[in-house]
Amino acid sequence: MNQSRPGAPVVTASTPQSRPMPGRTDLTGCPWHDVKEKLRDVGLRPTRQRMALGWILFGKGDRHVTAEMLYEEATHAKVPVSLATVYNTLHQFTEVGLLRQVAVDGSKAYFDTNNSEHHHFFVEDRNDLMDIPSTDVLVGKAPTPPEGYEIARIDVVVRLRRKQG
Ligand SMILES: [Zn+2]
Repeated sequence: MNQSRPGAPVVTASTPQSRPMPGRTDLTGCPWHDVKEKLRDVGLRPTRQRMALGWILFGKGDRHVTAEMLYEEATHAKVPVSLATVYNTLHQFTEVGLLRQVAVDGSKAYFDTNNSEHHHFFVEDRNDLMDIPSTDVLVGKAPTPPEGYEIARIDVVVRLRRKQG
């Protein structure tokens, strides 16, 4: 009855199950000491600013933010940071693998708190980034990289627009 079809793509999930429950949007999902541990684990000193930004970033589950969005949230939460600090912190977090950067436009960098391998839909008129479920296999044949290079990762951004009429 429920036999898997031969030849069906097999998707193996290798992501740890320690991520917050999807749909959780409250800030209780990521206690303060978890952020501290997260930073220590990757060798970043838990400075006050990194702690505060990390708490805002990771306390809301998987999501995509730009530096401007995080800056606005920080300001709203009365965290005294400059936009430049937010930029630097996001890039530091990305370098150590806490975040994944998703390039959509040359001008806009989105940072993804879900650092596992996945692809994205981008809704053009809303500037909205959504995860493509990992069950939807996208990548067929990877291109052959130039001599001396290997593929580090394949990021697919599928751009969407509303149907006309
Ligand atoms: Zn994502």
